[in-house]
Amino acid sequence: MAEKNGLPEPGWSDRVNDPEIAAAIAKNRKAAFKWGCVTVLIALVAPTVVSKFAPDAIKPEHAIPTGLVIAGAIIVCSILCRIVHSFRKPYEAVVTDKIIEKNLHRDRNESSSERVHYITVVRTTDGRKKKIKETGFRPFVWNYMSVGDRFRYHPQFDFPYELYDKPKAGNLRCVVCSKENPLESDRCSRCHAPLLK
Ligand SMILES: [Zn+2]
Repeated sequence: MAEKNGLPEPGWSDRVNDPEIAAAIAKNRKAAFKWGCVTVLIALVAPTVVSKFAPDAIKPEHAIPTGLVIAGAIIVCSILCRIVHSFRKPYEAVVTDKIIEKNLHRDRNESSSERVHYITVVRTTDGRKKKIKETGFRPFVWNYMSVGDRFRYHPQFDFPYELYDKPKAGNLRCVVCSKENPLESDRCSRCHAPLLK
């Protein structure tokens, strides 16, 4: 255990195989599956409901096929995501660069907005270059890692990155719910899962 007086020391955590963390992840996945089923049901029913109140928007005879197409697309996308995720392998790497890319995004109404991509460039221990690309207001990896940081990627976790030098980051990220926790914490203050330390 890379820990001294309740504070983590540089090193890899032996909690990556903690059954409590595995159980918390499984619980999250189960909840996500339930919400997915609810979304599919709503997608199936919504066009029929819309056609009843606004037959100009969706003709009643098109409502059921439209619902089936949308629900089918959601199911296919989630199956594809699951397949892609199952091919992810663990690796160890060092952050070599951090880049911000700004693209002008033009929507259908011809109004444009700037889209910012946060790219964390890493080199794995077997020499491969990888780019971790994030978009949006909360780029978790970008905020958590600095150039020169050594880390391990654990694909079984929802936040899959474990830093080697945890004290340097100043906080511990929960691998179940991504919340930042103080270094002295033993469990996540949001989901109560054990923290990697
Ligand atoms: Zn948590």
